[in-house]
Amino acid sequence: MEKFDVTVIGSGPGGYVAAIRCAQLGFKTAIIERYPTLGGTCLNVGCIPSKAWLDSSEHYYKMMHEFAAHGITYQKPGVDIKTMSARVADVVKANVDGIAFLMKKNKITVISGHGTIKTATSIEVANGNDKQIIETGKIIIATGSKPSSLPGIEIDKERIITSTEALKLQEIPKHMILIGGGVIGLELGSVFARLGAKVSVVEFMDGILPTMDKSLGKELQKTMKRMGVDFYLKHKVTSVTKTPKSPKGDFKNGGVIVKAESDGKEISLEGDYCLVAVGRKAYTAELGLENIGITTDNRGMIPVNEHLETSVPGVYAIGDVIKGPMLAHKAEEEGVFVAEQLAGQKPHINYNLIPGVVYTWPEVAAVGQTEEQLKAAGIAYKTGSFPFKASGRARASMDMDGFIKVLADKETDEILGVHMIGARMADLVMEAVVAMEYRASAEDIARMCHPHPTYSEAFKEACLAATDNRPIHI
Ligand code: FAD
Ligand code: NAD
Repeated sequence: MEKFDVTVIGSGPGGYVAAIRCAQLGFKTAIIERYPTLGGTCLNVGCIPSKAWLDSSEHYYKMMHEFAAHGITYQKPGVDIKTMSARVADVVKANVDGIAFLMKKNKITVISGHGTIKTATSIEVANGNDKQIIETGKIIIATGSKPSSLPGIEIDKERIITSTEALKLQEIPKHMILIGGGVIGLELGSVFARLGAKVSVVEFMDGILPTMDKSLGKELQKTMKRMGVDFYLKHKVTSVTKTPKSPKGDFKNGGVIVKAESDGKEISLEGDYCLVAVGRKAYTAELGLENIGITTDNRGMIPVNEHLETSVPGVYAIGDVIKGPMLAHKAEEEGVFVAEQLAGQKPHINYNLIPGVVYTWPEVAAVGQTEEQLKAAGIAYKTGSFPFKASGRARASMDMDGFIKVLADKETDEILGVHMIGARMADLVMEAVVAMEYRASAEDIARMCHPHPTYSEAFKEACLAATDNRPIHI
């Protein structure tokens, strides 16, 4: 029976990064994965394929709607969805193969199968009829999450689908009805809308992206509406039913009817697909938590202390399966954090500075406190905004939607939150993260020379506006 210092269960961005850091620190490390490929949700059915679809569909949308203004002409535009989908699959394969390479390079033992914890130092791994027991000093649980649904809605994976199936569609829907105007709904909704589908978003709250600064959702909704996306806000879905195949009509291969109500009024939408994107839930099925006395909280997550250790000494948990934002980079940080702690180091994670990005176009990105949070906490703050319509760089590329908003402490001028919507914000948000990690004031940023012409100048201008309302270009 093989014995390891550390065994990680789950090979998503939390698990594989934890394993690599453990190996770097000299631990004999194993990683257990139940799926045929490594990389978890993120690489197989999450971050990577969704971004590949977003990029392909964005190229097509620009060709159809913007190339003419640039003086570019073309003949016979069209989408070959099978080629597009095959490219996404190639991107995924290259990434998951990359993780397998990294495991080899770091001499990490990869064990295929479903892991069930038997004791705090042993895990049973089942692969078909084969079962083996792994002995280990420490365990890191990184089993991630799965899509949630709503009571009474059955995901049939054909017409009523989650992001996992949406990422593998081989046809452009005629009418995609999205339940949930959160990150997944808006990213995948953008993909299908760009490719020519009619897209309707049914959202329970009074705005899309309800957990982000409200100004971002409002601006994104405007631009997505221009793309033809319909929004039904403050609507509670009451039923989703499949319609049978019929030789006539728009949805002759069968479809779905989604009913929802708002203030006592019912709407009924008919489409060919309904994508349920109402959040994700921690995945702990047959993990054996009960064997070692761990109970999940009321959201199904594994409770951990400030060291990310569960109630059982030597058993840790990271990523989507514990509290905090369900983001790949948060899971990765936690993987490194636990590995370094096991090696006796004193690592640190600043949970206030985990950036969030929505890869729509324009991109949405944010870090730190929202205006709503500052108001609720009674913190006195000042704001500075800069719109991209006043940016030379944005005008040159015809990407003038959006703005950057900086929230700074009223007294000290320290930056407390940065909220961005515009082209390329996914990368620019890191300037705000660095500034806030070093506790910069808005004036610190305003006094730094930013290259011209770039989108980053808008951050400087928003900081100038926040400092004492002295932006140069508006
Ligand atoms: P996961 O990636 O879920 O990995 C868990 C792994 O554990 C899985 O491979 C699973 O098979 C395995 N496992 C579970 N139980 C067992 C067991 N008992 N035995 C063996 N193996 C087991 N985040 C971002 O930061 N940026 C994005 O752009 C982004 N886009 C996304 C797009 C979509 C469509 C989705 C669905 C998610 C996206 N996310 C994004 C979220 C991101 O994918 C997750 O936050 C991240 O994958 C969490 O990592 P993890 O390691 O905790 O778990
Ligand atoms: P989400 O929490 O972002 O959005 C869910 C949305 O569904 C919310 O707006 C919520 O108000 C709405 N909703 C809930 N119940 C509803 C109901 N009954 N009727 C109508 N609307 C309802 O969740 P998601 O979009 O499913 O994404 C899951 C997780 O995956 C997120 O936590 C996110 O962190 C992660 N993710 C991240 C990225 C990224 O970083 N770019 C991309 C995709 C997913």
